Amino acid sequence: MHEIDQTQTVTLAGAGLVGSLLAMFLARRGFQVEVLERRADMRREGGSAGRSINLAISTRGLHALRQVGLEQEALQHAIPMRGRMIHSVSGELSLQPYGKDDSQHINSISRAWLNKCLMTHAEETGRVGIRFKQRIQEVDVDTGALTVLDEPSGVTHEARTSVLFGTDGSGSAVRQSMMRLPGYTSTQAPLSHGYKELTIPAGPGGAFQMEKNALHIWPRGSYMLIALPNEDGSFTCTLFLPFEGPVSFASLDSPGKVLAFFEEQFPDSVPLLPELTHDFFHNPTGTMVTVKGMPWYVGGRALVLGDAAHAIVPFFGQGMNCGFEDCVVLDGCLERHRTWEEAFAEFFHLRKTNADAIADMAVENFTEMSSSTASARFLLEKQVEKALLNAFPGQFLSRYSLVSFSRVPYRMAYEAGTRAGGIVSELSEGLSRAEDVNLERAAQLIQERLVPFMKEH
Ligand code: FAD
Repeated sequence: MHEIDQTQTVTLAGAGLVGSLLAMFLARRGFQVEVLERRADMRREGGSAGRSINLAISTRGLHALRQVGLEQEALQHAIPMRGRMIHSVSGELSLQPYGKDDSQHINSISRAWLNKCLMTHAEETGRVGIRFKQRIQEVDVDTGALTVLDEPSGVTHEARTSVLFGTDGSGSAVRQSMMRLPGYTSTQAPLSHGYKELTIPAGPGGAFQMEKNALHIWPRGSYMLIALPNEDGSFTCTLFLPFEGPVSFASLDSPGKVLAFFEEQFPDSVPLLPELTHDFFHNPTGTMVTVKGMPWYVGGRALVLGDAAHAIVPFFGQGMNCGFEDCVVLDGCLERHRTWEEAFAEFFHLRKTNADAIADMAVENFTEMSSSTASARFLLEKQVEKALLNAFPGQFLSRYSLVSFSRVPYRMAYEAGTRAGGIVSELSEGLSRAEDVNLERAAQLIQERLVPFMKEH
């Protein structure tokens, strides 16, 4: 058995969001942490931090940052988004609040700013060294030998570690090496949609050209456009579109077709997107994948976490939040156990079922965002849900609020949320106004279906 010994140096693959945060947690426990990152140092060489310019951070992610003293600094750079601002084809706007009131909101934050902030604070612990342009190519998890490519020289060398953490994202080299071992399995389910980022620049004097405190959605069924605010007054828009088919990245093959598509489907966005066709053809088309695998560890020698263990599609805004929660849970496991293997085994046991649950909810949420948000029935149900959240605080909890505004395990949020959704649907039957919802019947249904479940868990 491999004892947890604070004098050990541990190695992390990847200084992305999860790797940089994990480095802080491990440094706090006294370890020396060496991080190998394949990209250049974005604090010196600029460039993109990778996919998606901004992200939504909510309760789980903020809780993790609080543990390392960074929540307040992050919130100073974040923009609260209190609800979804739905844009209809005719340009009408309607705000669907996320929570029971404005205190329940999610936050738009720059990926690059957050990643740089985490790397800098990790290094400032004095225990973390990040080596950039070091690509891990191969891992022998039995011996702890890593084959690392030094990108500037093109020379490959061998490194050794006693404990390796794979935080190298959805295409993880560490996971791929682990999955070659007998008894290890992993599946990758790519989405048939891709995404493209576009920019709505700030208006005169850095003004926001749309409502600042909302996540904007243009829901159109099999595709949608969304926009999140940035600190400088701009918005980053993301177009989610099938790769193939009658309306797809394949079919939109000329500037004229792109412009005509936007004018027909998202007309109010067109005057706000001066570089639309340029961005469309110059920005990369991103892919999205759900990764599920097991187990996530090899004895006490290697563990994958974050996207490397469980990449999910972005429609619940939870990938990073879930990866940050991994760091908190692992920290607790390291506190409780004497050996790495015991800690890794407990971590896997605690997280696997929850990672699977948020992966499934994220796929389901695509339908909610791209289609349901546009329907009158959905709107009514959301208003009924809000009425119940306010009328039965602590007793009635929606899936969205459990996922985004609580830290109850995702599996429980999934199951309780399904029960809550059933109650809302039943109470909305035949209703034309949320104000007319039958609260007596609601109380009865909540007592019968939700309260016993919450007590049980
Ligand atoms: P990554 O961020 O991918 O970081 C991995 C790091 O490892 C990178 O720095 C990479 O360069 C490095 N690396 C990779 N391979 C190697 C190697 N072989 N050797 C060395 N280094 C390596 N999540 C949210 O919570 N909220 C959101 O709103 C949200 N929006 C999203 C929108 C989009 C369009 C997408 C695609 C994702 C979104 N996510 C969101 C998910 C979020 O981006 C990920 O869950 C998060 O980035 C995972 O962090 P990570 O550190 O595990 O992986």
